[in-house]
Amino acid sequence: MRILVTGGAGFIGSAVCRRLVLQTGAAVINIDKLTYAANLASLASIEQLETYAFLQSDICHRAAMDLAFADYEPDAIIHLAAESHVDRSINGPDAFVNTNVVGTYTLLETARAYYERLPASRRKHFRFIHVSTDEVYGSLGPDDLFREDTPYRPSSPYSASKAAADHLALAWFRTYGLPVIVSNCSNNYGPYQFPEKLIPLTILNAIDRKPLPVYGDGRNIRDWLHVDDHAAGLIRLLHEGRPGEKYNFGGDAQRSNLEVVTRICDVVDRLSPGAGCRRSLITFVPDRPGHDARYAIDASKAHRELGWKPIRTFEHGLFETVGWYLKNRAWWERARSGVYDGSRLGLLAAQ
Ligand code: NAD
Repeated sequence: MRILVTGGAGFIGSAVCRRLVLQTGAAVINIDKLTYAANLASLASIEQLETYAFLQSDICHRAAMDLAFADYEPDAIIHLAAESHVDRSINGPDAFVNTNVVGTYTLLETARAYYERLPASRRKHFRFIHVSTDEVYGSLGPDDLFREDTPYRPSSPYSASKAAADHLALAWFRTYGLPVIVSNCSNNYGPYQFPEKLIPLTILNAIDRKPLPVYGDGRNIRDWLHVDDHAAGLIRLLHEGRPGEKYNFGGDAQRSNLEVVTRICDVVDRLSPGAGCRRSLITFVPDRPGHDARYAIDASKAHRELGWKPIRTFEHGLFETVGWYLKNRAWWERARSGVYDGSRLGLLAAQ
């Protein structure tokens, strides 16, 4: 199979590219604009292989997308490119509306034109996997779970832009028959995550013995899934998912932010011992506006229909992840320095 992956230089996209190329034998073209969140070093294990190709481009650019589809002739698309950080969406929603809404619309239109030209034998298998988040459902009370038919109530500019994209994607199935499948996944963690998100930020600050910021009282609950389990689920969707349907993915690992940060402190203390216990670095900071209280996923549809289940427990996955950041200081020091930011590199080159 030839798979076009968007956002493949990001955290989840790079895990999807590595898994497709190294474990399924698929050929991949990765289209990524290389924003600050991208990191081509995450693809070092596949970048030399003939079954992997990279195109630096913006998914909002229709002519470039038309050319990429015509040149590459994909059998499927896994669309992950997005602006993905909630705090950044509060401070600057523009890029979120552009990439997440206009970019998804542009890809859907490009894919529709391409799909309509495909011979019937190839149309039968073509899929457009639109990767989204559980944040589109909003905030849960103490006991409930997000199901695929839970109404959308997004709270942040990020989740609102993803919700808009999900509606567009499913409308392209209902109106034009494009074989779209939408996935809504809980919070991911694992290696190669840009150090602005809760888990890598906390790991790196704990390693460097810097303050560990926790929003509000730290009681907000998220359901954590290891990125490789998510990547495996997305590949199952390609083969087993039903067009026009939504699938929730979650790790069945609901933890409060304070539990996550405390656990990281204990693991870093164990793997990198030194003077004093890292828990003393925990610092409560004013809550994020519109901060959802609780997310929790009912992933039974994915278990039943896709035969998918996460294989790692959260505690085991977190232990491995801390170990990875300890061993890969060069990766995150360079990521933090902004050296992988393609737009910045372009700017520097132009000066
Ligand atoms: P990320 O921020 O690590 O990576 C996003 C990638 O998209 C980057 O490589 C970036 O350069 C690229 N990109 C951004 N704008 C682009 C554009 N206009 N054109 C082309 N490429 C562009 O994000 P992530 O955490 O890997 O998330 C990937 C997808 O999964 C997103 O759609 C996100 O909404 C969704 N998701 C993320 C999580 C999570 O916990 N991280 C959970 C559920 C769903």
